[in-house]
Amino acid sequence: MKNKLNSKRKVFIRTFGCQMNARDSEFVIGVLSERGFKKVDSAEKADVVLFNSCSVRKHAEDRLFSNIADLKKLKAGKPGLLVGLMGCTAQSYKDKALERAPVLDFVCGPGNEADLPEIIANVLKDRCPVVATDKTNEKRPELFPEYRQSAFKTFVSIGEGCNNFCSYCIVPYVRGRERSRDAKDIVREIRGLAGRGFREITLLGQNVNSYKGANGKGQGASFVKLLEGINSIDGIERVRFMTSHPKDASTDLFKAMRDLEKVCEHLHLPVQSGSDRILKLMNRGYTSKKYIRLVQKYKEILPKGALTTDIIVGFPGESDRDFNSTLKLIKDTGFDSAFSFKYSPRPPARSAKLKDNVPADVKQKRLEAVIDMQCDISQRCNAALKGKTLEILVDGCGSKDPRLLTGRTRTNKITVFNGSRGLIGKFVNVIVESVTPYALKGRMV
Ligand code: SF4
Repeated sequence: MKNKLNSKRKVFIRTFGCQMNARDSEFVIGVLSERGFKKVDSAEKADVVLFNSCSVRKHAEDRLFSNIADLKKLKAGKPGLLVGLMGCTAQSYKDKALERAPVLDFVCGPGNEADLPEIIANVLKDRCPVVATDKTNEKRPELFPEYRQSAFKTFVSIGEGCNNFCSYCIVPYVRGRERSRDAKDIVREIRGLAGRGFREITLLGQNVNSYKGANGKGQGASFVKLLEGINSIDGIERVRFMTSHPKDASTDLFKAMRDLEKVCEHLHLPVQSGSDRILKLMNRGYTSKKYIRLVQKYKEILPKGALTTDIIVGFPGESDRDFNSTLKLIKDTGFDSAFSFKYSPRPPARSAKLKDNVPADVKQKRLEAVIDMQCDISQRCNAALKGKTLEILVDGCGSKDPRLLTGRTRTNKITVFNGSRGLIGKFVNVIVESVTPYALKGRMV
């Protein structure tokens, strides 16, 4: 990429998908801001519209392409407007993205995102589309640009990529093999954030428990060691992390969550299915028994800790019996909440070769059964908190009623209460007065 760009252009970014994508969007805004781009809040105001995409589920991908197609009209009235696709779908589709969405001017995979200013400059110079997806396994530049969406809580990536090849998952193909950032760089980044007033950090990785970063002294650092290093940073008051893989999570991690005062008592531990037969087909590397034992350990070590999970229903060949095993596991485990999804094939992930043979209406019914059961359990988990006083980091105000503030407990439960906007970014204590399956409601004390 030879072209350099120093631009006064305005950029709008639309992010789909997980926290990893949200962090990538911040990274890209940071890279573009350093080259003079200004972030704006709508496609109408922009010279460059970026779609940061997620291809983990077909439904999200279809929605993404429909949103891109919607820009056709805007572009017809504004011929200089550039439209770009970045993220997982960009990497998975490569040139084919231009066929599916002719409105696109460029396609940029996750490994090429640091090159976006040059990619945009090349499109402007040559007036022809650019596809840049050749750096799948690239390590990110360690000195991250400084743009952050929030002023007090933020994400810090500790690594990228995944070696697990769960049979339904596209991530290892689009984000490459696992690369851990060096521990000293992560700690330096978080120290810098603490100095700027950030109070809460969420560490991000596809599988944080397999983190193996160099520590700068010629030795490797485990995830627990990394947590210890971050726990000692003055100014940071909460540390969260995601995602943990059940085959790598350990009692050492749970003990660290108990003993390191800044590490929050919330574990997201995706189980995906309660059937050993389906778990094997998914290549998850554990049985339901092993998962339940792990959860028992977690609850022994952190009796007040929250536990959340992901569930996929309708995996190829999932019988009623398999599905009932999933319902039983959900009931026995008592998750605080669960994200549940209908299976969809994601080539080149291996399960795409299996016949997607659970009918759509059966998938839908199973999804509803999981949601109904989980709603009851979440309501019970939250009801147990009535009358308790909890520490909340205030992160915003209600969209309908600006007198209502929202925030999260250390266990990551959304909490709603009355208060003034000046409290956003501060810690307050709230006594819980009522609950729903999705949130706590209370008053400040
Ligand atoms: S652990 Fe499995 S589901 Fe998670 S990113 Fe890796 S391959 Fe995908």
